[in-house]
Amino acid sequence: MSNDTLNIVYLVAAALFIVGLKGLTSPRTAVRGNLLGALAMLIAAVATVIAQGVELPWVLTGLVVGAAIGVGLALWFTTDSMPELVALFNGFGGGASLFVAGAYLIQEGASLGVQGLVATAASGLIGGVTLSGSLVAFGKLQEWKFLKNVRFPGQQALNAGLFVAAVGLCVGLVTDVAHGSLWYWSMATVALALGVFLVVSIGGADMPVVIALLNSYSGLAASATGFVLDNTVLIVSGSLVGASGLILTKIMCDAMNRSLPAVLFGTLQAGSSAFSDEEVYANVKTTTPEDVALMTAYAERVVIVPGYGMAVAQAQHAVRDLTNLLVEKGVTVEFGIHPVAGRMPGHMNVLLAEADIEYERLREMESVNPSMEQVDVAIVLGANDVVNPLARTDPNSPIAGMPIIDVDKARRVVVVKRSLSPGFAGIPNPLFALENSRMLFADGKQAMIDVVAALEET
Ligand code: NDP
Repeated sequence: MSNDTLNIVYLVAAALFIVGLKGLTSPRTAVRGNLLGALAMLIAAVATVIAQGVELPWVLTGLVVGAAIGVGLALWFTTDSMPELVALFNGFGGGASLFVAGAYLIQEGASLGVQGLVATAASGLIGGVTLSGSLVAFGKLQEWKFLKNVRFPGQQALNAGLFVAAVGLCVGLVTDVAHGSLWYWSMATVALALGVFLVVSIGGADMPVVIALLNSYSGLAASATGFVLDNTVLIVSGSLVGASGLILTKIMCDAMNRSLPAVLFGTLQAGSSAFSDEEVYANVKTTTPEDVALMTAYAERVVIVPGYGMAVAQAQHAVRDLTNLLVEKGVTVEFGIHPVAGRMPGHMNVLLAEADIEYERLREMESVNPSMEQVDVAIVLGANDVVNPLARTDPNSPIAGMPIIDVDKARRVVVVKRSLSPGFAGIPNPLFALENSRMLFADGKQAMIDVVAALEET
């Protein structure tokens, strides 16, 4: 394949990436956008290896092996652990940049020139931080105990020291290419340590921001590797991931009322609540599916706020049945969607779309909150942190300042979950004990099925 043909193929792939990305901006077009992005990646990867002289049987073998790993991973991870998969993919992206740039340095040495060496250093540094940071984020999402609340004095100073050391080793690589490999792998080791220490201290509730940021880092690392290899499509696609990841990070920061510099320098800390469970849950009252059916059947407006528990219970289809039944009875049903509900950006939208719940029923937090006082019944379905009023009242809580969906202001609140256990942030929730609040202790899906059955009898 000639260089000109290859560049035209890359141009087509880059255009497909951009159109695909545009598709991802709306749930209606997201599936098509995703497919276009995958197609672009296929075209770019196949063209690249063919241009390198790799023979077709090897290309096909690679495709089959890669597809088998992809399908295996996608089947292995259930939808509620999708964020862990995203964290792993970010890590793989960072790792690929780290190792490809390192291998190219061994192969090319001084012929990379200053620009190539700077790009190599950037690939190794960002790729290393992304690889280890993503693996730690994966462990935190899996709630591995040894990664919880890891904090020690001087952590910020250590991070700053590691960063300065890594940059110093990058300078060594660019100025003393004769010992390039030594400089590079030393820097990569420091970068890996930096990734661990940057992410390990960040509180669970702030993980959405971290995941979005690591996604951006993986794109920046890939883009830098594109400069090392002089590969246009890698530069373009890496920049797109880097930029879109940064935009997502900004959206997540706004949604959680966090500042971007605090995230960038890893100064987000896990906090703790000043309130004990005994104090908070002294006056919890329970309800039954039959009572919830009565309450909702005679309501004018019901708002359902889904959270991570809906994903765990796979309750989206049952909640669709409830919605349809209530709508048939003339009740207005809406869904209040918090930007960080669940375990990944857009988690709730994906699940509700999968259950064919009309997109028009989905209301963003800013749009549903102002009229919450006119809501007759708010059903909190497996959500916890995103409806926790401590975010407004307790400056020491790990979710302090995070905007929440104000279900506590609704006339009545029904909270569907299995127990009084905390959510991801690990703090009690005074919502459960409010005067207008009732707990329906059950698995999310079973609760919805039971309410539907009771409604059919009313
Ligand atoms: P939470 O994690 O706060 O709470 C989920 C609740 O679901 C739990 O309290 C649990 O209670 C309940 N639950 C679990 N399984 C079931 C089930 N089978 N049936 C019914 N309920 C169940 O979820 P939210 O969505 O409210 O908040 C998301 C949290 O995750 C935030 O802290 C956010 O910062 C964080 N996060 C978000 C990410 C994102 O990008 N969206 C990424 C990473 C973290 P019980 O065990 O009693 O049933």
